[in-house]
Amino acid sequence: MKEVDLLIIGAGPAGCSAAIYAVRAGVKPVIAGGAVPGGQLLTTPDIENYAGFVNPVGGFELMDNMHKQCKRLGVEFTPEEIAKVEGEKSPFTLTTTDGKQYLAKSVVVATGAKARWLGLPGEEKFIGRGLSACATCDGFFMRGKTVCVVGGGNTAFEDALFLSQFCPEVNLIHRRDAFRADQVTVEKVKANPKIKLVLNSVPVELLGGETLEGVKVKNVQTGEISQISCSGVFVAIGAEPQTAFLKDSLVALADNGLVLADERTHTTIEGIFAAGDCADKHYRQAIIAAGNGAKAGIEAAAFVNLHR
Ligand code: NAP
Repeated sequence: MKEVDLLIIGAGPAGCSAAIYAVRAGVKPVIAGGAVPGGQLLTTPDIENYAGFVNPVGGFELMDNMHKQCKRLGVEFTPEEIAKVEGEKSPFTLTTTDGKQYLAKSVVVATGAKARWLGLPGEEKFIGRGLSACATCDGFFMRGKTVCVVGGGNTAFEDALFLSQFCPEVNLIHRRDAFRADQVTVEKVKANPKIKLVLNSVPVELLGGETLEGVKVKNVQTGEISQISCSGVFVAIGAEPQTAFLKDSLVALADNGLVLADERTHTTIEGIFAAGDCADKHYRQAIIAAGNGAKAGIEAAAFVNLHR
């Protein structure tokens, strides 16, 4: 069993920032980032809302820089994936998917979330070519174009409002005629002449060649199929926190799978911290994950230094 001061699970912005802060506080972290470390940003073509970059930065490039920065500071990376976390107090036993074990004084959970996609044929080919799960990131590229948003929660409604600032037509496609989004936001959407509600409807086919050109939609009550010509489809049907490996641990999760962590990133187990999209029910933005990761790194280093 390998003994470490701090094991960080996840190598996205939250995990890397946690590592940077911990290593500079004198605690050497190991990041278990899986075979393809970097998370959701790896598939984000251009990022324009991460402060510090004059021009859009590619998600892959941003993550690559973070990894190089971590390595320069002495952070160790392992491609292992953690399958189990055990223990009610420090040190904790972590088991990888191939059976290797770590004994860690402290743990930061920074495993992120995966956007839920529609599951339509050809979906993968259109991701980044008109199909997106992040209006905040990719909406700007749809300026002047007709777009669709899929979903009936706050994310979908806020995405529709956001997109209506620079898109002449936003079709909000939702499978029911009742919404999870809060009433105030629903009213704003209903009052917005650029947003058209396409209710009791689900997308059944994505249309286009190299890039997305439209979507076929089925009315679930009448069975009628219609077609909407558009350059962008924004999927906002929720995200799955990557926390299944914690189900049998003592770290408390919310019903939706998010790790329960306080504003200082402390989970219900002393010495285990959580940051980023795996613990964020509101924002799910890279810069916020990085900020919370920094908090987790500071807290975890303080914990380790106190328990030396
Ligand atoms: P959500 O509230 O879970 O809503 C997901 C929506 O997608 C639901 O309307 C759901 O339909 C629909 N949906 C799910 N699976 C689908 C599928 N396979 N096909 C078609 N539609 C599908 O997710 P969210 O909007 O991302 O919000 C997540 C959390 O963040 C919520 O707690 C939300 O309040 C919060 N949030 C808050 C803010 C804010 O406060 N400013 C902003 C964004 C998000 P049904 O309704 O039929 O289930």
